[in-house]
Amino acid sequence: MLASAAFLHQLVDALGSPLNVLLPDQIAENAARFRSVLARHHLTGRIFFAHKTNRSSALVRRLAATGTDLDAASLGELQHALAAGFTGGRIMATGPKDPEFLWLAARAGATVNADGPGELETAARLVRDYGLPRLRVVLRLAEFETSGARRLSRRSRFGWSVKALDSLLDVLERHRDELEPLGVGYHLDTTSVDEKATALEGCLRALEELRLRGFEPRAVDVGGGFGISYLAHAGQWERYTTALTDAVMGRRPPITWGGHGYGLRSENGILKGALGLYPAHRPVAGEDYLDELLTRPAPSLGRSLGTLLLESLADLYAEPGRALADQCGLTLGKVLEVRRTDTGEHLVRLAMNAGDVGLEDHGVLMDPVIVPRDPGRGQDDGEGPVAAYLMGNLCLEADLITRRAVFLPRPPHPGDLLAFANTAAYCMDFGATHAQQQPVARKVAVSGEAGSWRWCLDDQYWPISCLGEQHG
Ligand SMILES: *Cc1c(COP(=O)(O)O)cnc(C)c1O
Repeated sequence: MLASAAFLHQLVDALGSPLNVLLPDQIAENAARFRSVLARHHLTGRIFFAHKTNRSSALVRRLAATGTDLDAASLGELQHALAAGFTGGRIMATGPKDPEFLWLAARAGATVNADGPGELETAARLVRDYGLPRLRVVLRLAEFETSGARRLSRRSRFGWSVKALDSLLDVLERHRDELEPLGVGYHLDTTSVDEKATALEGCLRALEELRLRGFEPRAVDVGGGFGISYLAHAGQWERYTTALTDAVMGRRPPITWGGHGYGLRSENGILKGALGLYPAHRPVAGEDYLDELLTRPAPSLGRSLGTLLLESLADLYAEPGRALADQCGLTLGKVLEVRRTDTGEHLVRLAMNAGDVGLEDHGVLMDPVIVPRDPGRGQDDGEGPVAAYLMGNLCLEADLITRRAVFLPRPPHPGDLLAFANTAAYCMDFGATHAQQQPVARKVAVSGEAGSWRWCLDDQYWPISCLGEQHG
């Protein structure tokens, strides 16, 4: 799509800058790849798209037309999913829940991923008081440990300690008529397969506990966090982080605004802190990460986690967010002004702000791609590669699209677009605001191939007609 400059410029001319472009067919493809991992391990299970990744209707409606399920983390997301065609039985309610969210989830027949005894009690009371159908629940657990006492999973505000599982089971026992425990699970904010393997094994043990108490659980939910590898080559990431470290240590000129270190700092010539960035290159990400987890031997039971799941007759649930949105869209911003400071830096001002492309908030560092207004220009004016800082449209010193210098093959010209690739996961609308009454990006759904792109507004997209009859 980046090669289709004229098409992208037409869209921005019509719909304004910033603009989010989504590829709904890509998310269907990504979901199919996740499901094929289950098949490879002979497992049955369900893939729940973590809706919080992106507010797009097109992505959710496209998934509604597949065998994928959905993870809703708020009342609004639940309503959106129901309106997009997800029946309640295909939805799991996760995250912090207010009574209205719980009521609608229970009313619609969704599964509730419960965070602790308080939530179970509230849910049971709602089911009883409002005559709702028996509610299926998954218990979200945390603080898994291996046989040694070393705590492997980090502290989280979510989940109930697996060591206090008994108290959860007591609540379930009191509410057998209202609650049906479908299984147990976790969602860990980590990239470590080891931590997840420990948690998965802990969940298999917890399933046994439920069975001993006379329940009939049948699923383990491994949460999300399968990730995206934003860069093609590990070497790119190593070079960048090395250069950043050198800049922080004063061994080279800064490559960030004001010498920002993304968590690194120099104290008396010693490197301190830790890099607070998303690992832009991940050797194993997406469905391959799930595959790796299932292939991995269980930390104490020894055999592969996939085999253990199979033998415990458990379905595998997963809640990928970022990974399902991989390559599902990009964000466009128009260049308004290019300035050169007296220290020789290029400052590029865009018709967008940091909230429109949440690269900083989510620690994702990528150089944008220039989509030239005038395809003939650029190559011939003898301007080589430059480092540039990207300024937003807010009247605020801190409004840099990203605090790092981005590296472009030439200085952009006013009227060019900068395309931020692969922003569908968390970077499109998670932090978008109406600050200073600047426009929030519109979204368009696009399908097709170079030369024959079709598009429609995101909220006009339905998987049957908007972009043609491709889903049969
Ligand atoms: C955010 C979230 C996810 C998705 O996480 P990713 O890292 O985007 O895959 C899944 N489950 C829960 C409970 C979450 O909060």
